[in-house]
Amino acid sequence: MASLQVRELSVGYGPVRALRAVSLDVPEGAVVVVLGGNGAGKTTLLRAVSRTLAFHRGAVTGGGVTFDGTPLDGLAPARAVAAGVVQVPEGRQVFARMSVADNLRAGALGARAGSRADTARSLARVHELFPVLAKRARQRAGLLSGGEQQMLALGRALMARPRLLLLDEPSLGLAPKMAATIAATITEINASGTSVLLVEQNAALALRLASHAYVLEVGEVTLSGPAADLAASDEVRRRYLGIT
Ligand code: ATP
Repeated sequence: MASLQVRELSVGYGPVRALRAVSLDVPEGAVVVVLGGNGAGKTTLLRAVSRTLAFHRGAVTGGGVTFDGTPLDGLAPARAVAAGVVQVPEGRQVFARMSVADNLRAGALGARAGSRADTARSLARVHELFPVLAKRARQRAGLLSGGEQQMLALGRALMARPRLLLLDEPSLGLAPKMAATIAATITEINASGTSVLLVEQNAALALRLASHAYVLEVGEVTLSGPAADLAASDEVRRRYLGIT
């Protein structure tokens, strides 16, 4: 079974303890959301799974992560991508000076991207999901709108043929209509067999997308359960949905 298991994971940035004994699961085919305010540790969790912590001077100080029964601990980020674990970073981070087409090509450099025929198939799928990326293929990525850049960041990740997508605040800074479009696409990507671990501050949107949810506060999981149950919980409604 392709599933993600995080067990008792602790992460530090030097003396800063960002995660304390966090455990969570993303079952095969699921969309799981992690909610939490600024600085709760959401991005850190994704970095630990994608093995990119070291780029940010962070380190795992306890516990671990397995994907599909195989420990990810100690793998280089490229090996995690090769295993099918692909992160879309916060703030999109597209290659602004490169064309849209070249950004997508860059996503296909991972080992799982497969043959040229596979890459062509992935590109066709990305263009089907995001027709605007075909229309703007030759344009510089930096000239796209925020929503289009989020589409490009998602498209670039899909070119690596992920089995598990790690999404860091995909709705951040987007108008509600664009955020809803991105959310619908995430549902579509999931329906075609990719598991999703999503971190979001937009709790209302995220709880509609996910089957299961976790609340992270100052590095610790304080609440978890089916997304519908969390959406109905007084604490989540008050703190994350703004309903009093
Ligand atoms: P945000 O929504 O603001 O991105 P977050 O929930 O994603 O917040 P993290 O970015 O994971 O939270 O940060 C968790 C904690 O770790 C915070 O206290 C933050 O200041 C600290 N932190 C994050 N990155 C670093 C770093 N590179 N060096 C030192 N401390 C860091």
